Amino acid sequence: LRDFGLGITNGKIAALIPPQDLAQVTATQVVSLDDHVVLPGFVNAHAHSAMVLLRGLANDLPIITWLEKHIFPLEAQFVSAEFVRDGTELAIAEMIQSGTTCFNDHYFFPEEAVAAAQKAKMRANIGLWVADIPTNWGKGPEDYFSYFLKAMETPPPNLIQYALAPHGPYIVSDDAFKRVVALAEQYDLPIHAHIHESEEEIRRSLKQYGKRPLARLHELGVLSQRLQAVHMTQITEEDWPLLERVRPHITTCPESNLKLASGFAPIQKFLERGLNVSLGTDGAVSNNDLDMLSETRTLALLSKGVAGDATVLGAHEALKIATLNGAKAMGLDHKIGSLLPGKDADIMAINLNDFSTLPTYNPITQVVYSAGRHQITHVWVQGEALMSERKLLTCDVEEVKAIARKWEEKIVAVPPLE
Ligand SMILES: [Zn+2]
Repeated sequence: LRDFGLGITNGKIAALIPPQDLAQVTATQVVSLDDHVVLPGFVNAHAHSAMVLLRGLANDLPIITWLEKHIFPLEAQFVSAEFVRDGTELAIAEMIQSGTTCFNDHYFFPEEAVAAAQKAKMRANIGLWVADIPTNWGKGPEDYFSYFLKAMETPPPNLIQYALAPHGPYIVSDDAFKRVVALAEQYDLPIHAHIHESEEEIRRSLKQYGKRPLARLHELGVLSQRLQAVHMTQITEEDWPLLERVRPHITTCPESNLKLASGFAPIQKFLERGLNVSLGTDGAVSNNDLDMLSETRTLALLSKGVAGDATVLGAHEALKIATLNGAKAMGLDHKIGSLLPGKDADIMAINLNDFSTLPTYNPITQVVYSAGRHQITHVWVQGEALMSERKLLTCDVEEVKAIARKWEEKIVAVPPLE
């Protein structure tokens, strides 16, 4: 729609106004966005926000070495409520500046992520983490389930919803998975988990359980339409019948998969079979940014390369995966993910009057294939401006940077564990 207006009332999109009617509209505030494209905000469907505080550590390593020899020990040394609060605030500032209006988080001390999102007036789906390993947040599944049940005692605040987030098949027992399924049904919540991320995960499952993770999850009832299956790079012929029958949501994190050489998610094959595919950045220790605009470009380019077909996954479809499909995975597509009257006003504006996007023959291909996140100028969540002319309105930029520096000094000063 060219030269249209978009009316917002009480946090919702009230109307899309054709140019000839704009003169008759009265508004308490008008924002003129010449040369901009206005789009639904990005939905980052998989993140570990607080891990931004570890960004830049442990690069160029194979996934299992990276995770078990570096990330888990770093987390054991440093993760605390304060770490999660500070890290999530830094992550949210970066996400707003790159057009994200909703993020799907998956980490320890989730109440701190909720507090950070509320402070910044950001929308979030907070995964309540479960695994059969001790962390600085709890001793094991009993602690994690107790936390979950406590969280369920009060309704989530505005802009927040919860999911059950068992980490992944390699560190979650059958008993814990069964309990996750029962609780997801009882409280009607999505399940969010890393699945088929690496070859090593498959090897360990075959050795320990005698079956592939997807087959095991199917038997346990985890594989369902509630499930957001994250990564899914290791798909073979025996997995397809299950996926076609059960149709879980798929979340792909192409840059993280590339950096850890985890493999390639067969995006086009998922789409051809009608599965809902959404997009996430993963944590900033395996990406290393939370930029959904660049992630969308990587998704489009990589999907073409993997399919060996330049016609697959066009710019419009890539953008839909990065917005509406993410909302759908979280059960939020009735509320966000597209710009339609009645939906919440979760919106970004991108200035195309920039060397990288001129001339502008087609705004959507310019956004997906050419634009950079510095061109994102405005962000609203539920009608409230979080960024205007690139100025963050709900984050104290200097304070967030100073806190990140404080963590940098603290983490650098401590020698790594053997
Ligand atoms: Zn992840």
